[in-house]
Amino acid sequence: MLNRLLEPKERIEMTLNPTLSSGEHVQIKAFIVRHRDALGPAKGGIRMSSTITLEDIQGLAMEMTWKTALIGVPFGGGKSGICFDPSAVTSDDKEIIIRSFTRGTMRHIGPEVYVPAPDMGTNEIDMGHIRDCLAYSAGKSITSGCYVTGKPVILGGILGRREATGRGVAFTIKAACEKLGLDIHKQRVAVQGFGNVGSITALALSEFGANIIAVSDVTGGIKNNEGIDINHLMGYVRENGQIYGYPCVKECTNEEVLACDCDILVPAATQSVITSDIAETVKAKIIAEGANSPTVPDADEILERRKVFIIPDILCNAGGVFVSYLEYTQETQREQMTLDEVNDRLNKRIVSKFDEVYDCSNQNNLTMRQAAMNIAVSKVVEATHAMGVLP
Ligand code: NAD
Repeated sequence: MLNRLLEPKERIEMTLNPTLSSGEHVQIKAFIVRHRDALGPAKGGIRMSSTITLEDIQGLAMEMTWKTALIGVPFGGGKSGICFDPSAVTSDDKEIIIRSFTRGTMRHIGPEVYVPAPDMGTNEIDMGHIRDCLAYSAGKSITSGCYVTGKPVILGGILGRREATGRGVAFTIKAACEKLGLDIHKQRVAVQGFGNVGSITALALSEFGANIIAVSDVTGGIKNNEGIDINHLMGYVRENGQIYGYPCVKECTNEEVLACDCDILVPAATQSVITSDIAETVKAKIIAEGANSPTVPDADEILERRKVFIIPDILCNAGGVFVSYLEYTQETQREQMTLDEVNDRLNKRIVSKFDEVYDCSNQNNLTMRQAAMNIAVSKVVEATHAMGVLP
């Protein structure tokens, strides 16, 4: 069983050859991995970055298997990647690349195989192009099943999907504060990454009354012990495309944000940023993993020794995939859910899963990560056994 769970079911690597609007031909590597599908079709985002590798995508696909099992949606784990820097091209050229990816991977995408969604470097506009490209090639309007989630609402997307991951992160932090007897109004928060997940987490936490004192993105960080106005910062980033240059705050490095004097740290950028060296310098009492795999295993041991309470990624950032599941059901039922309905269901589901993991951790003397993995892996093992071991 261990060997079976360690290896992906399917791992595809391909080369795309799109022609950009300038007439330039480019060659781009792309990957799709379906890890396990005992509980349902593979679910997982499309990451677009110049540095991703097949191994990264394989690891992220496995993580999706545990995440979907833990949050209790009928999906398996998958992930895909386009090895290209999205900030290096215009939106027209990005569309060309996304359509080229869709044409190349068409046979591997579908409501019963692999249902993609946005991830780092992709967004709802890209999901709209994927849906169009699939419909165009099939010669029909795709409404018979959900081929992709995180689409624009007008194309069958769901209200609140874009904000769902960040909102879910904030709901788990609030739940953790309640369990640990901490007043959310007194919490000072640092957030690494100010994209979709980081900015919405920061906004939701400031609406809950917490004080956001440090934020960073790939261009660097800012700090202000009096608190940062997140709505205002979001406006600045929309206009300028980056945090760098935001007025009336102290500039700092990304490492300084991770190690700053705060109560709650939210890594919401990319993987492996909390190394063992950083783990020794973290001052937060709670780390909420908005990003996937932000903590390396050695750092995890250090944080455990230092009694830092970790809300593990497969629980903390599962709000996105849960709302993707609502979008999937909405598309089959053809009835639009209201935003209140979506947020209410997200809150109830993620908090009940938080409680389940917290209780399992206390009852069995496990860390939160071990408890979350225990619950998730057990479900996948049970489903795999139930299907039988013979092909
Ligand atoms: P995004 O592209 O919208 O934002 C990423 C942010 O991180 C940007 O502000 C970028 O400048 C910053 N960043 C990138 N590299 C950095 C670095 N080395 N140091 C500091 N900042 C850096 O991406 P996103 O959708 O917000 O995803 C962020 C993380 O959350 C990823 O790990 C992703 O896998 C995970 N996640 C996203 C979703 C979702 O629904 N979008 C769901 C689950 C998990």
